[in-house]
Amino acid sequence: MDEKILIIATEAAPYAKSGGLGDVTGTLPKALRALGADARVVLPKYQSIPDSLLADAVFLGKIPIRVGETTWEAGVLLVDAGFPLYLIENDHLFARKDLYGYPDDGERFAFFCKAAVEMQPLTGFSPHILHCNDWQTAPVCLLLKETYRHFAAFANTKSLFTIHNLQYQGNFPRITIRLLNVPPHYFSIDGVEFYGQTSFMKAGLNFADGISTVSPTYAREIQTAAFGYGMEGLLLAKRDKLTGILNGIDYDLYPAITLEEKAEAKKHLQRRLGLEESDGPILTMVTRLAEQKGLELVMGAVEPYLQQGAQFVVLGTGEARYEAYFRYLAGKYPGRVSANLYFDEALSREIYQGGDIFLMPSYFEPCGLGQMIALRYGNIPVVRKTGGLADTVTHFDGQNGNGFVFRDTLPDALSWGIGQAICAYWDKEAWTTLRQNAMACDFSWQASAKKYLELYGRL
Ligand code: ADP
Repeated sequence: MDEKILIIATEAAPYAKSGGLGDVTGTLPKALRALGADARVVLPKYQSIPDSLLADAVFLGKIPIRVGETTWEAGVLLVDAGFPLYLIENDHLFARKDLYGYPDDGERFAFFCKAAVEMQPLTGFSPHILHCNDWQTAPVCLLLKETYRHFAAFANTKSLFTIHNLQYQGNFPRITIRLLNVPPHYFSIDGVEFYGQTSFMKAGLNFADGISTVSPTYAREIQTAAFGYGMEGLLLAKRDKLTGILNGIDYDLYPAITLEEKAEAKKHLQRRLGLEESDGPILTMVTRLAEQKGLELVMGAVEPYLQQGAQFVVLGTGEARYEAYFRYLAGKYPGRVSANLYFDEALSREIYQGGDIFLMPSYFEPCGLGQMIALRYGNIPVVRKTGGLADTVTHFDGQNGNGFVFRDTLPDALSWGIGQAICAYWDKEAWTTLRQNAMACDFSWQASAKKYLELYGRL
């Protein structure tokens, strides 16, 4: 194996996942290994990792990690996940209910960043590339330049920083820079300072050797004020280092089904969720209930279609205001609306398979996996033309195209898209063509993994 890649991440399915990042880091290493690279992953050992996945874990040892003025102990475990997966153990920091959202997240992930690199003597693995993902692991890029390049094992190591979502930046009070143990001059505009705060995201953007994001369109969008969340100027300045590589999906996890099986899946879904067993279209969503996902558009668009006999199934967790709305809708339209406000991988599959129309009207969408999985199952996406949605869904013209695409961030625009989809639904010939087009799309990881390998090579 040629290239040695250490993917440093805070999610990797099936060990830990809150969204698309987990899917990517769970699958990319397998695809890279299939191409001959020695790709490995390091992850915090969260409490939520199922014991069954840790049965064969090997304990490699313990190392002290200095974070600011405190020294924490990091246990290092090795698991065979289809690739070598290292887990960093510290129960005080990671044996908690959730992955993120704690007041000491700055300390938790500063610790993880350091342990992920400083574990090297225990693993014996000297990567050519440290591939960091999102703000939690961005400080590795800075630490490599300032501290770790002096370690022989990392003397020729380069860093790649991948942005999965620019909205989450890890901006903390100024004093948080002390947790990185770097000279104070790094608290500057060319360092980690961001409007008086310490920004972990900036530690990635300013110090990574390469920057990537998860779709070509999002790579362009984040250089503009509408999508840049204050980082657009910096990203524009770094545009020569910035690439967009579309995520794939793991087709082993999403085996194809026939149209007959799909018809069965629809009936099964209706029975399971207590919906009327009608022939009308089922509109579906599987999503975090976050503002990003365009739920205001959904709230303003779906009801008239329910009154005309369409059904609506949502699976998602998140902000209370959206949960309340979907609960209300389910109460108002019993037998027609099913609101499932929790996280359930198995149910998500049944919805992808049994649904007819998949709504994804995101305000922004770095890549989006939902629409790719939906396409796989002929669950026709209705999407806003942004980010990865624009790169994967093309508007159906009666012959070509795999979904319905609109531009405006208005309920009327989504409503138009749903109307188009329902129209096609009742036209047997068009619907068959459309579903065939959708199910024939190939978003496997192979192509994306090749692009990552090329990028690693360039670095
Ligand atoms: P994001 O990363 O912004 O959340 P993506 O579309 O890239 O959005 O990825 C979301 C992933 O999480 C998909 O695989 C989707 O099926 C899954 N998902 C989201 N919400 C739920 C849920 N409540 N239950 C099960 N799976 C979910």
